[in-house]
Order: sequence, then structure tokens, then C-alpha cells
Amino acid sequence: MKVEAWMNQLRRQLQRANYAYYLQDDPIMQDEVYDRLYRELQALEEKYPDLVTPDSPTQRVGGGVAEGFVSVKHNIPLYSLENAFDLGELAQWVARLQGQVGDDETVEYVCELKIDGNALALTYEDGVLVRGVTRGDGETGEDITNNVRTIRAIPLRLAMENPPARVEVRGEAFLPRQRFEKINQMRQEKGESLFANPRNATSGTLRQFDPKVVAQRQLDFFAYTLYVVDENAETPTTQAESLELLAEMGFQVNPQREVCQSLKTVGEFFETWEKKRASLLYDTDGVVVKINSYALQEKLGFTQKFPRWAIALKFPAEEVPTKLRAITINV
Ligand code: NAD
Repeated sequence: MKVEAWMNQLRRQLQRANYAYYLQDDPIMQDEVYDRLYRELQALEEKYPDLVTPDSPTQRVGGGVAEGFVSVKHNIPLYSLENAFDLGELAQWVARLQGQVGDDETVEYVCELKIDGNALALTYEDGVLVRGVTRGDGETGEDITNNVRTIRAIPLRLAMENPPARVEVRGEAFLPRQRFEKINQMRQEKGESLFANPRNATSGTLRQFDPKVVAQRQLDFFAYTLYVVDENAETPTTQAESLELLAEMGFQVNPQREVCQSLKTVGEFFETWEKKRASLLYDTDGVVVKINSYALQEKLGFTQKFPRWAIALKFPAEEVPTKLRAITINV
């Protein structure tokens, strides 16, 4: 097959997988298969840049807006994350960054667990939650404010005396493992189809039309990004400060985080959690490594799809959920 036709086929496969995964909450292939096909397409696009198409899954944040929801344009786009699959790839990313910021610059990193859920964008005006929106395609998401209000870990009002005029918070809605198993058990008893994993169950829950159903599912939430939009308010200058401030505002912030001064300590954080992740009450599929300084983040900026100042270092795949074991794909 000619390379162009093969690339088109890969794109179609990935687009079909995206639709099933993000909009139907019912994946048609395993994540590792998706990641392998994605990387193959990415490598071909690097080799043949003339054959890159603007609608390629490598150029866009996966997802979209499901029917029945009002779509909302994000004030600040939500990006995806570049992936590294081992410490060698992380070292390459660090070397590339160091080249971009200059050898004299000391780069500090914040390591956070990558929670396997769904990103939400929350807007607070004068301290009050006014809007909750899904990531969608990164530019536009679904307005699910009424559903978001049922999540206990999301404050309806910020816990501070003089809140900034506007605050934008990003974080991950997720289902703790036990809740996910309970939900699937109840679905089985009712003869309903099962969710493949907690991430798909979270996404299906966030898109329920009845907030009462969402409340019963008991979603949880970790906050990890803060934008203070107020000229008169003090704004954090590092990711670590933002995480502290989010906790002060009343958000649940994952305690499993660390400011690291070197690639070595990032590697140690990764190895520790790779071993210990089964002891957590929720699924994590890797470590997100972010540059701590906002000034450096600004200097590095974004590609069309990812921030250049962050990367997801993925854990090796865990056992495949039963429902997906039978799926084979055919490309
Ligand atoms: P991603 O989930 O790999 O990474 C980006 C997301 O990480 C962010 O949007 C955010 O929601 C989340 N995140 C969790 N913790 C975070 C933290 N502490 N800080 C910042 N972000 C955090 O990216 P994606 O584009 O949503 O999904 C791509 C992945 O989804 C693929 O690698 C693949 O494994 C899977 N996928 C699978 C299929 C399939 O058919 N099986 C289809 C599409 C995507």
C-alpha cells in the first residue's frame, strides 16, 4: 500500500476510535493499540510533513461535543499532553527543553499523578461557581454546570474572604475504583451495558441529562490548574504555588506531588508510584511532569495540541479490562 493511503487508513481508524471513546464512552480498541497506531501516524507525519492533514488526530485534541448539550467556547483552551512511554523518552524531552530555555537556566519540575478521568473547566465569578464545562475538542466543550454542582469535592463557593473577580480552575473528575465497580455491578443487575473502565464511566456520567443520576454516582475531583483573572489580585508564579492556593480555596488537591530539581528525582517519583499505584483508591495512568515556573512555561508556549512545558510519562499498561480482551482490530 502506498504510504499516503496507509496514513489515511491510520487516520480513519484513530478517528473512529476517538468517536467511540470520547463521544460514545465505549472504546473499540485497547489504549495500547490506540497509542501504537497514533505513534505510527505521528512518525509518518514527521517523515512526510507534506502529507499532514489539518483534521489528523495528531493535530487536534480528541473529543467533541455530544448532542443534547449546549456547547461553550472555553475562555482559555484545554490542551492534551504529549506522552513519553519510558524514562529514556522523558530524558529526550528534558534535553530538548533545556536546549530551548538555555543551558544556564535551572529548570524545576512539579510531578503530579495523572488521574485517569475527565478534565473539567470550572469558572468562578466573585467566588461563586457559575459554569462547569467538559474539555470537548479543547476549544469548545459541553456545558454540564448542573451536573458539576453535584460533585461534593467541587466547592460551590471559594473558601476565601475576598475572591478574585474571576477564577478558572481545571482538574480531573474521576470515579474511585470501588464506585466504578459498584456502578457496573448495578448495571449488570439491570441488564445494562457495562463501562469499560472508570474513565469511560466518568465521561458517561458527566453527560447524563439528569443531575440526580450524576449525584448518585458520586464522582470525585482533583484540581490541578488555576488561572486568576483579576488585575487587582495576587497571582501565583509557579505551579506549586497554584496547587497550594487551590487547596486554600477549598479544592481537593492530590497530596501525591513533588517539586523535583532534576531528571533523577523525577525518575524516582515515577518509579515509586509505578510500584505503589495499586494501593491508591483511584486509577492513575502515569505521572504528569510540568515545569514549575510560569515565566518559563510562557516562554515555551504550546503546539497546536500540547503545552511544550509538560509531558505525561505513562505507566506500563495494567491488565486489560475483561470487556476489551476480546476486541481485535484489523488495520
Ligand atoms: P491524556 O488523557 O493521555 O492526557 C491529557 C489529559 O490528562 C488532560 O486532558 C487531563 O484530563 C488529564 N490529567 C490527569 N491528571 C492530570 C494532571 N495532574 N495534570 C494535567 N492533566 C491531567 O490525553 P487525551 O488526549 O485525553 O487521551 C489520549 C489517550 O486516551 C491516549 O493516549 C489513549 O491511551 C486514550 N485513548 C484511547 C482510545 C481508545 O480507543 N482506546 C481512543 C482515544 C484515546
